[in-house]
Amino acid sequence: MTDDPETLLREARTLLPEVVRLRRQIHRYPEVGLTLPHTQSTIVAALADLNLEITLGKQLSSVVAVLDGPSPGRTVLLRADMDALKIQEATGLDYASEVDGAMHACGHDGHTAMLAGAARLLTMRRDRIPGRIIFAFQPGEEGYAGARLMIEEGLLDRCGVPDAAFAIHITPRHSSGEVFSRPGPVMAGAGTFKIVIKGRAGHPAEPHNALDPIPIASEVVLALQTYVTRRVKAFEPAVVTVTAIQAGSHELGAIPETATLTGTIRVVSEETRLHLFSAVRELAVNIASAHGAQAEVVVEPGYPPVVNDPAIVEAVGEVSGGLLGKDHFRLMPTPIMPSEDFSYILQRVPGAMAFLGARPEGQVTVADVHSPQMILNEDAMAVGVALHTAVALRLLDR
Ligand SMILES: [Zn+2]
Ligand SMILES: [Zn+2]
Repeated sequence: MTDDPETLLREARTLLPEVVRLRRQIHRYPEVGLTLPHTQSTIVAALADLNLEITLGKQLSSVVAVLDGPSPGRTVLLRADMDALKIQEATGLDYASEVDGAMHACGHDGHTAMLAGAARLLTMRRDRIPGRIIFAFQPGEEGYAGARLMIEEGLLDRCGVPDAAFAIHITPRHSSGEVFSRPGPVMAGAGTFKIVIKGRAGHPAEPHNALDPIPIASEVVLALQTYVTRRVKAFEPAVVTVTAIQAGSHELGAIPETATLTGTIRVVSEETRLHLFSAVRELAVNIASAHGAQAEVVVEPGYPPVVNDPAIVEAVGEVSGGLLGKDHFRLMPTPIMPSEDFSYILQRVPGAMAFLGARPEGQVTVADVHSPQMILNEDAMAVGVALHTAVALRLLDR
């Protein structure tokens, strides 16, 4: 048995029927959030004959499986998320969700099945693994910060701090088997805010006897837009969007007591994310105060930006080129603005997230992830299995 790319890819293709079966089993019973008992037991059963050291999560249904080679060496962590979304599936597939209002619409069922396949392929090479591989199956990626909870439960400490980490996200937007990534920021960091401007209600004909929160809220909206263009580097993408304004009522026709703004922040550097969190607060509080009013500000930090290690992206590019041919790996020109909690792992461990194209054959317009019609090309999962395996072997070897 060798580790040359053709052999890895051929073996991954041999495993594909089993990977597809596992994916469909998970797809049928999607579970949302941090508690995924069915998914957890399905993964544990899929890994049962591999003789890996398995640890289950306490506050979440995570599965951590450790493969130790015959000699000590570097440690590589491979991660797959395994949670679904609160979406009613409308694909019409014969293995569609059997759970009302839940669907694997982000491809995490595929991520999980690919990582289980890679665990098998790597275990077949156990005798020649120079170190340790950690397979991390993570619940709660979709807004529940499952990765952070797994870190709190010792993911990065219990069996040695990993030297490198790698994760794949599948995408139906690109042709099957194409791999994308980029050095540095690859996905955005996020945050949301709620600002309540507290004025004083009163008669609309006598605003001097009231304290109208509406013009103050309007100033805050404009100040937030100005702030982003004047205070954030022009070369750094940053978005502050006010998504709702609520004040007064059409029926009452009076000056209201309060005005409420909610909004969202997206950035690609952690420094700017924290900077904007405090800027939102300061602008709102100080603009309100200048008018004799008060502002209450609540910022909910989302996930930090996903920042890839350049050397590891280079290794992923070389490995992908070797597996699939050079033109199947592409450097993304810009980050994308969704966020992902693999970022918590990358804050501690140098690593990379890559995207794997999985567009169904013959489709030009596709339903993207988070759509009730989202369908994946399952053949791409063979590439995912081979990619996880080849990247792990490469990163162990560095
Ligand atoms: Zn998603
Ligand atoms: Zn996802």
